[in-house]
Amino acid sequence: MAIRKVSLQSDLRDAVLPSAWVESQDCVQFIRNALRRAFSRTRCYSSARNTVRREITVANRRRIQYSCNHCNKWFFRADTQVDHIQPVEDVAHEMVRADGKFDWNRFIDRLFTTNLQVLCKSCHSAKSTAENAHRKAMKKANKLAKVGQYDRGTK
Ligand SMILES: [Zn+2]
Repeated sequence: MAIRKVSLQSDLRDAVLPSAWVESQDCVQFIRNALRRAFSRTRCYSSARNTVRREITVANRRRIQYSCNHCNKWFFRADTQVDHIQPVEDVAHEMVRADGKFDWNRFIDRLFTTNLQVLCKSCHSAKSTAENAHRKAMKKANKLAKVGQYDRGTK
């Protein structure tokens, strides 16, 4: 039987997954995205907005607004996002177990949480940018530390 290439858009039900794909970063990313989507459909996720909402009347229509937890301004739903206060993938820890495989338990524990806040898109983007920069710096520092250990060990 021929193995067909599986893209992220394809229907996985009938797919014959090449074992190389199952082991790949593509597969890890695919499952991570699927879990994030699943969490975003939970009541836990949607109820994060309930405590920071108000009703206003615009042109005789009742509209709901949500308060951003960082800048405290009010926004319509489309301009807000639900954010994990403690990032799912934290800055110091890459989601990799000692054996080199992706740490699914840790990922799921971090993802499925009530540790959530509502942020406006601009505050959320600023927070993500800062987290990514920190993560990148930590990664670089860890790499240098490993090189240092190696140097010390061999000299
Ligand atoms: Zn904001």
